[in-house]
Amino acid sequence: MGERVEFTAATKRLVAERAAHRCSFPDCDRPTVGPDTSGSGAIHTGVAAHIYSAAAGGPRGTGGLSAADLADPQNAIWLCAVHSRVVDANSGKEYPASVLRSYKSLRETRAMLEQQGRELPGGWLHRLIVERGPVLRPGSSISFGKLTLLKGGSASGKSALCEWLAAFAEPGRLWRWRNRDGNSWPFTVRLEYFNPQPKFASVELLQSGAIRYRDQGVPTPVPSIGLQALYVAPEHTIPNNHDDLEFVSSQLGLHEGVVLELPNYIDEFGTGIVKNVRFSRDEEGFLLLADVANTRPGLAFRVLSHSERAQVVCEFAIAACRAWSERAITLLLMDGGMAHWPLAHFERYAEHLSHPARSFQTLAITPRNLDAAHARKAGWQVVTLVGTESDVYVETD
Ligand SMILES: [Zn+2]
Repeated sequence: MGERVEFTAATKRLVAERAAHRCSFPDCDRPTVGPDTSGSGAIHTGVAAHIYSAAAGGPRGTGGLSAADLADPQNAIWLCAVHSRVVDANSGKEYPASVLRSYKSLRETRAMLEQQGRELPGGWLHRLIVERGPVLRPGSSISFGKLTLLKGGSASGKSALCEWLAAFAEPGRLWRWRNRDGNSWPFTVRLEYFNPQPKFASVELLQSGAIRYRDQGVPTPVPSIGLQALYVAPEHTIPNNHDDLEFVSSQLGLHEGVVLELPNYIDEFGTGIVKNVRFSRDEEGFLLLADVANTRPGLAFRVLSHSERAQVVCEFAIAACRAWSERAITLLLMDGGMAHWPLAHFERYAEHLSHPARSFQTLAITPRNLDAAHARKAGWQVVTLVGTESDVYVETD
């Protein structure tokens, strides 16, 4: 290596247009094109900056990407002249690739909404920091992309992270962590987000069991950032005493009345892999039917495989998150479930969830065999939890 891998003019233009010619640095957002001082021309101040470096030894390194991948639009972030220098200062240490990918996906999501005359409601999750508590080393942090994929062995705290994030919407998610031995108290998790200015909030679980939120450092007894988190942990087995409606409602943590209405939105907002979802009712209760790709159309939910059932549940979740994201910062948390899907299924959902048209963010536990290079190329954020029990640390590329 040593040769710089430059973006082509066509790539630079594409990256600029996908950012709507605005700087992707979240609290800059400045236009990178405008009239020049002569009064008749235009001046361009934007830069297609490399996320992974143009050459070995550059800021952030090359991430093991091939020359072709380094030159790909996915490896470029559109920045103003000032911020293109800021992110590369100090060898890019303050702005790792994961943070730049998060900025890029935020800008592209905003650009798509702005083009439709809309704004990003609520904001955008940027980073979670575990300041004190069990499992993860103090100070561990994860940066969110549009889609963040969580990898790690058993007992590495994947579900714990999902729960702690969900606690910014639902205090009950912290409850099982009270009375735990070996915690240093208060157990504290901090969440940084853009709204559109940088903001932060935290939640503390006190040794007494009390839960204290803070908004910009100021204590408050209730969740304050207006996060909608949908936590899905698909179960394999449908309990005997549950009809399909009760089962799907319990998977999603949504009221049965809401779940009955959601199929009307799945064809429009879902992935297209599951279609024609409908409930019918008999003396046994509610029966769910769906056309799932690669199965006979109209099969009953109960006769689908575990993985197919989890896909149907995921479509309900996507439809609900799509609706919430019109109004609030919305996070879909896929704890398990997707992790056991065949890789091809998983990747189709990952592509859908990472598209800028989905204005909510997703954190999903990934299958073990996910190819990190493929994920990086697709712009998915991959976070790996390394270690077990009380000494887990975070690796982000
Ligand atoms: Zn800027």
